[in-house]
Amino acid sequence: MKAVKLYAIQELKLEEVPVPQIKDTKDVLIKVKATGICGSDLSRYGKFGPKKEVGLTFGHEFSGVIEEIGSDVTNFKKGDRVAVSPGLPCMVCEYCKMADYSKCNTLEVIGAVSDGSFADYITVPAENCLHLPDEIKFDQAALIEPSAVVVHAFYQANMKVGDTVTIMGCGPIGLMSIQWAKVFGAKKVIAIDVMPEKLQWALDMGADEVINGLEEKAYDGVKRLTNGRGTDIVVEAAGNAFTCAQVLSLACKGGTVVYMGIPYSDVTIDRFNFESIMRNELHVVGSWNSITGPYPGKAWDTTIHFMKEGKVDFTPIITHRYTLDDAVEVFKKVYKRDTLFGKIMFFPEGVE
Ligand SMILES: [Zn+2]
Ligand SMILES: [Zn+2]
Repeated sequence: MKAVKLYAIQELKLEEVPVPQIKDTKDVLIKVKATGICGSDLSRYGKFGPKKEVGLTFGHEFSGVIEEIGSDVTNFKKGDRVAVSPGLPCMVCEYCKMADYSKCNTLEVIGAVSDGSFADYITVPAENCLHLPDEIKFDQAALIEPSAVVVHAFYQANMKVGDTVTIMGCGPIGLMSIQWAKVFGAKKVIAIDVMPEKLQWALDMGADEVINGLEEKAYDGVKRLTNGRGTDIVVEAAGNAFTCAQVLSLACKGGTVVYMGIPYSDVTIDRFNFESIMRNELHVVGSWNSITGPYPGKAWDTTIHFMKEGKVDFTPIITHRYTLDDAVEVFKKVYKRDTLFGKIMFFPEGVE
């Protein structure tokens, strides 16, 4: 089978390797149907290189069909359509014992410590699999993982029906946040980015207002659109050192700022933004991953429910579709960011 393996920083190879064998009796073998590139995959590819083992297959956002089950697997059978939670909590640390798996002291992810999904087949613990309703196609099912990350963040925000929401950054996570904000009861959603195309995507996803941060300061724009008030909730989904400071001044007094994007660099907060925390008595919360108990948790069930009902539809976020044959070139191009992209999806069996 084909597998995309990471050997070093920006050194990716498409290789022909044997189909993996089920080694643990609780594992399943999955035929990968769709698998997306996560922002963290791009960072691993471009900045960090392999986490542990050199030459591991990477990728962790995917869906597929069960091909074979281990002898102790009872809740899945060959032919079942599945989505997969890639998180591997240790199950023994203080936080795992409380089923607060996102906080696990040694949380690992499929694709970083074991072979991932940029391949024709993958083996994973059956416990990580979720049954996929027929209504959810494989491409959208590969977005259940990032969607669950967004839902988890909204849980941290303690949002109330009728709240107003600002979403900073219109990459896939920000775009999903727009629709989730509506499901969580937002009265008005303002999306901010610096690329006009992405702002159009934001409008297509249901944003009520958009601000181009190059044309107007985010602070001025949000104040203009909220009668000087700011919004109840602000979601940082850009993962940019500059916006991480900026978002603090966009919330209303007593509002909540949720950090979801990862800047991978130092963040300097100027006095004006920092003082907003005290002066406006803000709630500043972080959100990490998506998994809770019972594993993988409510954010996952919620995503599957609302996708099935058609209340969220993230298919339009998928802007590029490829087979694994293109993977090496695609990563090169995308890491340089010389093309505009939303979600990039690989279809090992052929583009859908
Ligand atoms: Zn991811
Ligand atoms: Zn743990």
